[in-house]
Amino acid sequence: MSEKREYGFETLQIHAGARPDPATGARQTPIYQTTAYVFRDADHAAALFNLQEVGYIYSRLTNPTVAVLQERIATMEGGAGAVCCSSGHAAQILALFPLMQPGCNLVASTRLYGGTVQQFTNTIRKFGWSAKFVDTDDLDAVKAAIDDNTRAIFCESIANPGGYVTDIRSLADIADEAGLPLIVDNTSATPYLCRPIEHGATLVVHSVTKYLTGNGTVTGGAIVDSGKFDWAASGKFPSLSEPEPAYHGLKFAETFGPLAFTFYGIAIGLRDLGMTMNPQGAHYSLMGIETLSLRMQRHVENAEKVAAWLEADDRVEYVTYAGLPSSPYYERAKRHYPKGTGGLFTFAVKGGYDACVKLVNSLEIFSHVANLGDTRSLIIHSASTTHRQLTEAQQEAAGAGPNLVRVSIGTEDADDLIADLDQALTTACG
Ligand SMILES: *Cc1c(COP(=O)(O)O)cnc(C)c1O
Repeated sequence: MSEKREYGFETLQIHAGARPDPATGARQTPIYQTTAYVFRDADHAAALFNLQEVGYIYSRLTNPTVAVLQERIATMEGGAGAVCCSSGHAAQILALFPLMQPGCNLVASTRLYGGTVQQFTNTIRKFGWSAKFVDTDDLDAVKAAIDDNTRAIFCESIANPGGYVTDIRSLADIADEAGLPLIVDNTSATPYLCRPIEHGATLVVHSVTKYLTGNGTVTGGAIVDSGKFDWAASGKFPSLSEPEPAYHGLKFAETFGPLAFTFYGIAIGLRDLGMTMNPQGAHYSLMGIETLSLRMQRHVENAEKVAAWLEADDRVEYVTYAGLPSSPYYERAKRHYPKGTGGLFTFAVKGGYDACVKLVNSLEIFSHVANLGDTRSLIIHSASTTHRQLTEAQQEAAGAGPNLVRVSIGTEDADDLIADLDQALTTACG
């Protein structure tokens, strides 16, 4: 698109990265359902493999449909580049992969998606990496957790499952002082409600599965690089700053500047880990993103109504939604998330664990599923599902105690959602 005017978010979500298909004029981005691409000649092939020319080789690395999605998401987040991949969890591994070595750690928020706590607690240990979990509202604790082997700080913008809002700026200041990248999982906020790079984040990761696609059809992920971090400054990130043996001694930071992380993510991350997004998935995600702002406005509007109704109901102990004036996060939310705090929150049911189980069984519009960010309203009892593998202390720290249910408020008629919760609470609480 022309550089004359800075386009607004609603324009970018439809146009960024896409142009009419050069071969056919097709207005919608075609699904390039192909594994490989014919080289013009042997010199062209060599230039592509040497990363001297940007183009398509093989769809484990790059694909034109996926490339449009990458540029769309990078533009919406205000980043230099993006890598799409097969899931949100893949995005987390691909984000850490260029930064970490065996023996290195990351400092991670206690308030994270349950699957992320699991990935960071146990699975990454198999790579020789580890995570130190801290309450990111306690800035001194974050500083104290950083040691010589720390390579990143990781948080969610609007944190799962309670919808707490993170002060990204303060964490970015700590990361800057320590010479570390701040990685923000922006899944629940989406770039419509929050653009972490503007608050100082280095990398943004997404589960594209959720609000970006928006209708529960795709499993996908993305990593956006701000392009602003100096990977060579501290000597702590040799994969990016030193000759990389996995790519015949190429120095990514020196060769690609602000796109070093993105090129590494594709040329080595996707090449060797193979967590690739497929072109069909990219197509569905592109379709979803075209309406992102409209959906997010409605998710917020509905969540505010439902949360206020629940808070006033006798059968509900408390509601964690940061958009409620009673929330300890309300002031922070108003400052950092002026368009609203999303559609995700938890509430505590007075009858405890058993009442929660009855509640999820009795709802008619809400679906009982392990997902969020769908046009449909969704509910889950985290303690018996997504956070089941965690200890009770970890569950409490993550805001997923046994008397809590998490809702992802959809874009239906808010009064219908309230009526459904009302009848199910009657069944659950007697
Ligand atoms: C769902 C989710 C993930 C994991 O994404 P998948 O696409 O399911 O792999 C990570 N972070 C957050 C905040 C999520 O909601």
